[in-house]
Amino acid sequence: MRLFVAVLPPGEALQGLSDAVAPLHGLPGADRLRWTTVEGWHLTLAFLGQVPAERLPELETALAAVAEAHPAHRLRIAGAGRFGDRVLWAGVEGRTWALRGLAEAVAGAAAELTGEADAFAFHPHLTLARAGSSRGHRRAVQRVAAAELEGLAAALADYRGPEWEAAELHLMKSDLAGGFAHYESLRSWALADWG
Ligand code: ATP
Ligand code: MG
Repeated sequence: MRLFVAVLPPGEALQGLSDAVAPLHGLPGADRLRWTTVEGWHLTLAFLGQVPAERLPELETALAAVAEAHPAHRLRIAGAGRFGDRVLWAGVEGRTWALRGLAEAVAGAAAELTGEADAFAFHPHLTLARAGSSRGHRRAVQRVAAAELEGLAAALADYRGPEWEAAELHLMKSDLAGGFAHYESLRSWALADWG
């Protein structure tokens, strides 16, 4: 199973972002990107990759402990940026130190399980679009100029969505069938309520 751990913004936050992103689809370079859809939007805390089913109980125990030890916290989707000439993303603001602490703990728990500890560089974001060919479809790689991604990010730079409470940790399954990623929450744990 291809797994990752994420925080899922509520519908209101996703809808606000969706409304703000819609006009971007008409901007230069937009038609050469693979746009993600609102149904799949999430904040990845840690990517686990392929995990054998028999490791699930262990993983779930570890994630339950992490959730119990980290507080729910307020966030909002705000701003945008790009990773090189590959990814357009929306950012988050608010108690991002709490989100970072949670992500570090999740990554630590995952590393203990897999025995692989890679350097941790957490940059909270929701992926809005990707440049390049989709998996499965053998389209030629179409590079979108960094300048065009920059233009798209600039168009969303002032966006500030409604505040919401990140209150749950989700263990997510990623299926990459037919060139599209489909995500499913397998299980979730409430974060600690410290008032
Ligand atoms: P695609 O790989 O085709 O772009 P995807 O990234 O949406 O699809 P997955 O690769 O299963 O689907 O990734 C699930 C989530 O984990 C996404 O938020 C993705 O950005 C993130 N992710 C994937 N690989 C890594 C990685 N090596 N390090 C950190 N996060 C990753
Ligand atoms: Mg990926």
